Amino acid sequence: MKMKNIAVIGSGTMGNGIAHTFAQNNFSVSLIDISEDALNKAISTITKNLDRQIAKEKITKEDKTNTLANITCFTNLADGVKNADLVVEAASENIDIKLKIFKDLDQLTSPNCMLASNTSSISITKIASVTQKPDKVIGMHFMNPVPIMKLVEVINGYATSSETSEKIMKLTVQLSKEPVLVNDYPGFVANRILMPMINEAIYSLYEGVAGVAEIDTVMKLGMAHPMGPLQLADFIGLDVCLSILEVLYKGFGNPKYAPCPLLVNMVTAQKLGVKTGEGFYNYQNNTKELIVAGNFKIN
Ligand code: NAD
Repeated sequence: MKMKNIAVIGSGTMGNGIAHTFAQNNFSVSLIDISEDALNKAISTITKNLDRQIAKEKITKEDKTNTLANITCFTNLADGVKNADLVVEAASENIDIKLKIFKDLDQLTSPNCMLASNTSSISITKIASVTQKPDKVIGMHFMNPVPIMKLVEVINGYATSSETSEKIMKLTVQLSKEPVLVNDYPGFVANRILMPMINEAIYSLYEGVAGVAEIDTVMKLGMAHPMGPLQLADFIGLDVCLSILEVLYKGFGNPKYAPCPLLVNMVTAQKLGVKTGEGFYNYQNNTKELIVAGNFKIN
């Protein structure tokens, strides 16, 4: 059976990008959020991003009209997932929220409907365990910003069937993205490698090895990273980095994943990066200004 109807749960940073990508590839998308405000913001973000694609001559005005026409918004989960062939959950990274959503989806979706989560770090096996169809539950870890980034980390839970992973791999290719199949262990592959690097960069700052600009410049010019690890942490959100490191630390029981105390302090002080206007850099005037490393109270 050909997949046509996709339900996306959560219309925040990732959900709007996932809805945009499916809709642009001619899928019919139900975008669901508990917040009407979030849904309105999502449609306005998608519209802006489509305009940017038109300005760069990547799509036509007609493509924009068709993409927007393919998206319908819902605040009611049952209505939104009624006809879905696949649900992609991109709600907040909170295990209780996700388990409740998947328990409900088990009741509300047709038996053949596959259930994917875009979680950055929560176990797919755990999420699948609250459903009666764990063979149809899988991870689809899109990267931010979704319409631009090519990779989708496809995560096989312990009980995911090969039929489900084959279908999801094929579907990802239909979106002009590159799927990479991995197994369900803490942090999967992307964050298992990325987060210790970011943590080590924060440790280098904390121990006074170098300042923010110096650490980011070493990684940008020396390792050809488009963005230094501290700036990247600001973009991801320091709270998100901390929670993923906690998953790695708890999941492997290995002290090498222990979050740097400076990261813990910054999250406690609500210096979360771009989203709060300040992290390792200051973003308050819509610019990126360096906060000198010495400003940190690191002792
Ligand atoms: P976000 O906070 O921007 O958006 C989450 C949205 O979920 C909000 O609009 C919220 O109203 C909605 N929501 C919360 N509970 C809900 C419910 N019960 N039903 C429907 N909607 C609900 O979060 P985000 O950054 O888009 O992250 C979403 C998921 O994607 C998380 O699992 C996160 O780990 C993952 N992820 C994030 C990134 C990133 O760079 N932000 C990258 C990869 C994966």
